[in-house]
Amino acid sequence: MKFTELDLPANILKALKKMGYEEMTPIQEATYPVIFAGQDLCALAETGSGKTAACAIPLIQKVDPALNAIQGLVLVPTRELCMQYMAEIEKIASTTHVIPYAVYGGFDKKIHIAKLKQEEVHILVATPGRLIDLLYDGILSFAQVKCAILDEADELLKVGFLEDIEFILSCILHEHQTLLFSATMPDDIKKLAHDCLRDPQHISLITDRVAPESIEHYFAYTHPKQKQIELIKYLEGEDINQVLVFCNARHMVDSLFRSIRKDLRDIDYMHAGLTQDKRSATIEKFRSGKLRYLIASDVAGRGLDFSHVSHVINWDFPRDGEQYTHRTGRTGRMGRKGKAFTFVSKHDLSSFRKLIRSRKITPCWIGKDPLSENNAPQERRTQKRAIYRRKNHSG
Ligand code: AMP
Repeated sequence: MKFTELDLPANILKALKKMGYEEMTPIQEATYPVIFAGQDLCALAETGSGKTAACAIPLIQKVDPALNAIQGLVLVPTRELCMQYMAEIEKIASTTHVIPYAVYGGFDKKIHIAKLKQEEVHILVATPGRLIDLLYDGILSFAQVKCAILDEADELLKVGFLEDIEFILSCILHEHQTLLFSATMPDDIKKLAHDCLRDPQHISLITDRVAPESIEHYFAYTHPKQKQIELIKYLEGEDINQVLVFCNARHMVDSLFRSIRKDLRDIDYMHAGLTQDKRSATIEKFRSGKLRYLIASDVAGRGLDFSHVSHVINWDFPRDGEQYTHRTGRTGRMGRKGKAFTFVSKHDLSSFRKLIRSRKITPCWIGKDPLSENNAPQERRTQKRAIYRRKNHSG
């Protein structure tokens, strides 16, 4: 369905045309009527499916620019995602009088305060920590908020964020619309999600935990000491555009960067221990194609839109299926093809089994397949038993 078939104001259509958005993506088509009708919503869609615009377009349409007040609130778990969300809203709102503004940690709070005190803001995009600081400072009023959006909702509802989110939502005292968007929604989080919503609609464009078909899943059973050699060998044989390498901890990002930079050119690293300026600059360099390789912690794992990542490498085996989905979702976006390559050590085998079962992944092994070897004795035992039964139970 085309955007022109919706009842959108001409100025928003003009912006969408400028952005090259003609056809709605499936998540946009499915959620638009619900959001526009003012209903609460819990929407599950793969990362890279156009979730941001799915919320942003109806949100901008709902804002009354003549009213000088925050009318839309968007909460996201990371600073990078906050800036990305803001950039998308800014583009869609560029031909309207709707003014979005982003507040996030690591940025001068005085600048945030000055802007919010002195200037008009209609849509506030925020990370929870900074937003709470501003609420405590008495800078914000939510009296006119019509719609609150939780992007990467399952992350926002996890321990660590949950209390903040409950507090923020409790500051909107009147009835309002709440929209939850996510690519994953573990069962234990579903109930918490429900507590935030009023008579919600559920829309899921995710086939039950199945990994997207646009991504091929490669695994390499490797001794940790061999990983660097194996990775270089693998990359040499691949047609590469951009590569995103995930490690489980900041110190791993640092040490991998130090040791691999001699082998790979146009490489940088990023994690939450760096200054916000360095984080933002690195993301921008990667997004604009000036970097070929980025080694990162999971701050780059959620929601970030990198159009040209051809390969995602799990240097460290991911904690669970959700983390695998988010990391690998940085490739194969908007119908493009992508490859995920994950190192598996002896200690990861049971997690590996769980992962492929839960995500219904068909793994391709590069090098030896440890499971077929492990299974071989079992298979032999099964065959021997069958022969024994045939001999002893026949006639
Ligand atoms: P998201 O899932 O929001 O991160 O979006 C993924 C990518 O799809 C972004 O680069 C968007 O600019 C792009 N996008 C979103 N909606 C559309 C659309 N209707 N047509 C073309 N591109 C789109």
